[in-house]
Amino acid sequence: TEKIDIGWNFANSYTQLPESMFTRIKPTPVGKPELIIFNEPLAATLGLNSTALQSKEVLGILAGNEVPEGTLSLAQAYAGHQFGHFTMLGDGRAVLLGEQITPQGDRVDIQLKGAGRTPYSRGGDGRAALGPMLREYIISEAMHGLGIPTTRSLAVVATGESLIRETEQPGAVLTRIAASHLRVGTFQYVAAWGTVEDLRILADYTLQRHYPEAPVEDNPYLVLLREVMERQAALIAKWQLVGFIHGVMNTDNMALSGETIDYGPCAFMDVYNPETVFSSIDQQGRYAYHNQPGIGAWNLARFAETLLPLLADDQAQAIKLAEEAISDFSERSYQYWLTGMRAKLGIFNEELEDVALIDTLLELMQKYRADYTNTFRSLTLGVTEDADLFGTPEFKQWNELWQARLSRQQESQSSSQKLMHSSNPAIIPRNHRVEEALEAAVEREDYDVMERLLQALTNPYAYSSEQEEYSALPEESACPYRTFCGT
Ligand code: AMP
Ligand code: MG
Ligand code: MG
Repeated sequence: TEKIDIGWNFANSYTQLPESMFTRIKPTPVGKPELIIFNEPLAATLGLNSTALQSKEVLGILAGNEVPEGTLSLAQAYAGHQFGHFTMLGDGRAVLLGEQITPQGDRVDIQLKGAGRTPYSRGGDGRAALGPMLREYIISEAMHGLGIPTTRSLAVVATGESLIRETEQPGAVLTRIAASHLRVGTFQYVAAWGTVEDLRILADYTLQRHYPEAPVEDNPYLVLLREVMERQAALIAKWQLVGFIHGVMNTDNMALSGETIDYGPCAFMDVYNPETVFSSIDQQGRYAYHNQPGIGAWNLARFAETLLPLLADDQAQAIKLAEEAISDFSERSYQYWLTGMRAKLGIFNEELEDVALIDTLLELMQKYRADYTNTFRSLTLGVTEDADLFGTPEFKQWNELWQARLSRQQESQSSSQKLMHSSNPAIIPRNHRVEEALEAAVEREDYDVMERLLQALTNPYAYSSEQEEYSALPEESACPYRTFCGT
């Protein structure tokens, strides 16, 4: 029989790292794989042949029943602070097939999530349920559409096996694409249980893989720390600007590439309230919306601690260098956010009073329980009738200040409007629409609802008529929306 060329172009650089950092393992085969969803545009950018991948012969690969030629598959070891408590973790249900070298020359991880037990599974079954894997697919692709660095989703395959959760659930395997799966927790693992030499190898690897263009300085590990800081500051500001709440910002879920990773209990805020928490396990609100930049700083400090042995021979000096390097994080993140907020309001240049203008709007949004996304959408469209906020004298007063501000800048009104269009998404993956899509998929095997939602989310800045229905708010509900850790 003729061999199908799928387009795999695998490298396995992770296997060159110290042996304690991973365990070579194959995915555990599943009973009856069925392709639920496949990301053709993403496959194309990876240099993979969509038609071949979706065919019966190779569906087995996305299910973990076969591994492609050239793979040295493995589960990664890592540690992490979960809600502030340090613990050993690792890929408990994920297997890295390898690194695909794309036609553009990028190197990306191809990982199967839900691929069976590994030495790091602890009590878990190594599996994932269909609903949460489709949820990750939808939200990660929505984040990509929003222009926010993120891991991507190539496919979800149902396993034909059921899982014991709170209720019985169909199992699934998600194919996750990431710049890498290096985490703050990877460094924490090596710092805690490896040698200083192991740590240096890991740091060199991370620099080479994610920061090849970083300035060459005497102290490369200080450069690494600064670069990670910069990308995290930019990333978290982007989350804040679209009202994204990650929900489980443990140090093992902070990627050193600067991508958003681990779509468990995340959700988008609707009514503007800085204290919003969706995750049912986040009782204290540690990962509430307004805490995200501060948690980013905390996680970064944990990363800096792991680097101390590399930063200087004298540990007092190392601490001083690390502290200096990361002291800017909050300010950097705030500046990224401020720039983004100006853009959301169509403002090009900087005035000192902008901060007050922005803060006042947010205060009013909170006071009148305005929807975060739709408020900016309405301002962008220039239709300010459809919410309680807009009828208030306070808003009218704010609006006058804003208009005056816009007329003080050189750029025309139409440039301003363009800027707002590209900075304020017309739609986000609203919780009730995501739930509706998942229910149709999981309960009725109807995937059209999800496909349509995904289509609309491809370009959330399009302001197309097809998108309009997705901007509608849910009916007032007695119980607040709750998310559960993806299982
Ligand atoms: P997370 O909260 O998603 O960051 O996951 C925390 C840890 O739990 C990671 O080490 C996961 O690999 C592991 N884990 C989550 N679900 C399972 C499962 N069903 N079986 C084994 N390990 C799991
Ligand atoms: Mg995780
Ligand atoms: Mg998770």
